Amino acid sequence: SRSVHQIQSGQVIVDLCSVVKELVENSLDAGASSIEVRFRNNGIDAIEVQDNGSGIAPADYETVALKHYTSKLASYADLTSLSTFGFRGEALSSLCALSDFHILTARATDGAKGTRLDFEISGKLRGTSVVACQKGTTVVVENLFKNLPVRRRELERNVKREYGKVLTLLQAYACISTGVKVAVSNQPKKGKKVVAFATNANPTTRENIANVYGAKTLTALIPLDLSLEMVPTEPGHDSPHTVHLRGHISRPVVGEGRQTPDRQMFFVNARPCALPQVSKAINEVYKSYNITQSPFIFANLVMDTNAYDVNVSPDKRTILLHDQAALLDTLKESLHAMFAAHEQ
Ligand code: ADP
Ligand code: MG
Repeated sequence: SRSVHQIQSGQVIVDLCSVVKELVENSLDAGASSIEVRFRNNGIDAIEVQDNGSGIAPADYETVALKHYTSKLASYADLTSLSTFGFRGEALSSLCALSDFHILTARATDGAKGTRLDFEISGKLRGTSVVACQKGTTVVVENLFKNLPVRRRELERNVKREYGKVLTLLQAYACISTGVKVAVSNQPKKGKKVVAFATNANPTTRENIANVYGAKTLTALIPLDLSLEMVPTEPGHDSPHTVHLRGHISRPVVGEGRQTPDRQMFFVNARPCALPQVSKAINEVYKSYNITQSPFIFANLVMDTNAYDVNVSPDKRTILLHDQAALLDTLKESLHAMFAAHEQ
């Protein structure tokens, strides 16, 4: 029978995307300037995330994959400001319960010696061994959902769609993460390794977009830089504040057809997330100018951490904006003004 730990783990790690999200965010939290994501058989056989970040301290080997262990939450204040992505200490422990899981880690560049960590299903450290390894951490997840047969079959059956979703997510991380090299590849069951995309450690998101979507994409984009003045509508909630919408968006040219890849990426304070209502509002504005194709949107909402909730879903991708209705109205107004300015 299945343990409670396995069932709970299945709620943190629900699919390929949640694995990749957790591991990439751990690498970013570790201060990596290079992240390599390698899939084998589109992730069905293995997912490997290698970074050149801080590495794991030997003192943490015993605890690192235990449930609720996190090195990131220093105080309650941290929980409300969430400067790091992780804070629950659930990802590694869940992966131990759901896959063949191990870690390679090294704290220093010299000597190229590191440690391999193997774990029990419970997350308890099973053993360590010395391996050749660069500074940083490589997390290896093999045979994901090996003990959840229904989930495993679902993954195998929908692998094309799942892999597509995971690439889209990785593109979002690669575009928003300035100063971080991101490389993604897949080794199919037969034949040569395929490089999906790669970015340099660019100083700007613009250059990241060029690396991911091709330099030509940039010619169809203009910078998005709106300051939305928010007056709170819910009593007791927040003071007046400004929400900045920064990024890149399709040129607002009336009547123009397809010119940019049909991609929309949303972030709140640089955290990739789904914002379907914001997407809908922007699409509507473009449609109202007879632009038939939905615009390319790369939009980072920079806002007060009190103005939204991130931890409403286990995967932290669902964001609840407190003043959503007001924000959408102000956003539409600003976009209309942007179109008007562009016409002159
Ligand atoms: P959380 O990210 O919420 O702390 P995780 O289960 O994702 O929980 O990770 C547990 C701990 O393992 C982290 O707090 C961190 O100390 C360590 N860790 C995980 N991944 C890495 C990494 N790539 N580099 C360095 N340390 C890591
Ligand atoms: Mg984490």
